[in-house]
Amino acid sequence: MERSLQRDLGVYIHFPWCRALCPYCDFPVLVARAEPPHRAYLDAVLGELDQRGSELAGRTLCSIYLGGGTPSLWDPACIAELIARVAAHWHADPSHLEITLETNPIDCSGPRMAAWRAGGVNRLSIGVQSWEAADLAALGRDHAMGDGPAAIEAAAGAGFAVISADLMLGAPGVSRDPHQAPSSVGAAIDSGVAHVSVYELTIEPATTFGKRVRAGTLPVLPDDDLAQLYEATHHALTAAGFEHYEVSSYARPGRRAVHNSLYWQGAEYLGLGLGAASYLRDPDGGGAVRQVNSRQLARYLGGGAARVAERTPLTAHEVATDELWLAMRTSVGAPAAALGAVATWMVAAGLGEIAGDRVHPTLRGFLFADQIAARVVSMRAGPS
Ligand code: SF4
Repeated sequence: MERSLQRDLGVYIHFPWCRALCPYCDFPVLVARAEPPHRAYLDAVLGELDQRGSELAGRTLCSIYLGGGTPSLWDPACIAELIARVAAHWHADPSHLEITLETNPIDCSGPRMAAWRAGGVNRLSIGVQSWEAADLAALGRDHAMGDGPAAIEAAAGAGFAVISADLMLGAPGVSRDPHQAPSSVGAAIDSGVAHVSVYELTIEPATTFGKRVRAGTLPVLPDDDLAQLYEATHHALTAAGFEHYEVSSYARPGRRAVHNSLYWQGAEYLGLGLGAASYLRDPDGGGAVRQVNSRQLARYLGGGAARVAERTPLTAHEVATDELWLAMRTSVGAPAAALGAVATWMVAAGLGEIAGDRVHPTLRGFLFADQIAARVVSMRAGPS
């Protein structure tokens, strides 16, 4: 199938510094014990952009996404310069170019937001996580209960048309009825945000929470309770008019995230910065290359070949496999014929439903997205 997506490009820029390390975080993060090296890091990212961007002629730039870490810590003048330099590299329709900045609520001051807007940012993703003090304390966040809603209100006042809030379910040790959506969900709806990203707390082995689970000192929510919380949250958001378009993503009509949608549609993205991942098609459109930058700052700042930690060529068959399981993380689903026996299993297990010639995940299917992906990959690997 011919897709214009093959020429669409998203650019992700990773800013790795955070004020403190959250106990559940497994991202490439550096704790900013002093002021981050704003300009030196910008120069390294621009160097990478100039080198790698020149190899990607002819694309249409659809999205610029600054993630982290905490990119709202970055000097706004650096952010503006970076956006201008990225936008100058490719053709883009300015009225459709999504430019997102992930923010910590405590960085959302009036002057900073004005500078972000002036620099071209048109979408804020605010790491609220919860409207409840007990959740924020249990998650070890560095912002307090009122900071998230204040940031949303200030962002709306500053003229950001698209504001997304992150919500984390399953704060350890916080008791609640799993059949009821947390009060944070209603608060998010009432806040007027256009988009909500709902995450279930995942315990990664190498994190502080991972160590505490192994030591038996972290009272994590049982999986069944977490699943029920997810379902209750889903029902509250969809009843309020949000569309559930990906496992973790809810949007008011017309407000789906362009950037993340590129990932799920198998479009190309260029990842710049420490630990950033890229997915770029071969020139003939068949295979692709997945590349991940080093997580070591000195190697990244040094540039050149040492900057790259992994480079994995993918065949056309592997690319098609990835597109298939990624599609099954979204409400778009995939053709039943391409899913074969996986489609039959999904429908029988209540994980999928047929509409026309496609299979879409049910709510239960979204909960089992990883298992569905594993089945797709196994099927495509051939008979065992
Ligand atoms: S703010 Fe985000 S990126 Fe930084 S440590 Fe916490 S979870 Fe990780």
